[in-house]
Amino acid sequence: MAADLKATPAVKKGSSTGTRKSKTTTVKDSQFRNFTPYKLKRGEAYMSEGQLAHLREILVNWRRELMEEVDRTVNYMQDDAANFPDPADRATQEEEFSIELRTRDRERKLIKKIDKTIELLDLEDYGYCDTCGIEIGLRRLEARPTANQCVDCKSLDEIRERQIHG
Ligand SMILES: [Zn+2]
Repeated sequence: MAADLKATPAVKKGSSTGTRKSKTTTVKDSQFRNFTPYKLKRGEAYMSEGQLAHLREILVNWRRELMEEVDRTVNYMQDDAANFPDPADRATQEEEFSIELRTRDRERKLIKKIDKTIELLDLEDYGYCDTCGIEIGLRRLEARPTANQCVDCKSLDEIRERQIHG
């Protein structure tokens, strides 16, 4: 009798979970690659109007992508919720959801950071290291438009952080 509980071979993995490989890119350390590198004019000053506009566009596009991503996950989770009669499948699903949620949480934080960066950029308080004041550099900003430290200060901070948190 007890054996019967397990007997029903519910829909096997492939059909229930096979459709979800479209699962999306995760946020990779504030990296953003989808841009055309800025062409510097001869003798162009650092953080010229052209560069600011260029970096602003990168930030705005990135923000839009993240927003779409967040919306898409919410929809996906609503459509998908509670469709698995098998407890094992449900557990897998819950785990996936919680991973998704953490990713979304990071994305939301990133969106906030992008907003703040755009604000600073509009005030032209952008492109210089918060810690030592030197130029962060156009190429670094293109790859990490939310960077507010130069490479050196950033690495130092990371080392310190690792020491504090073990
Ligand atoms: Zn610095």
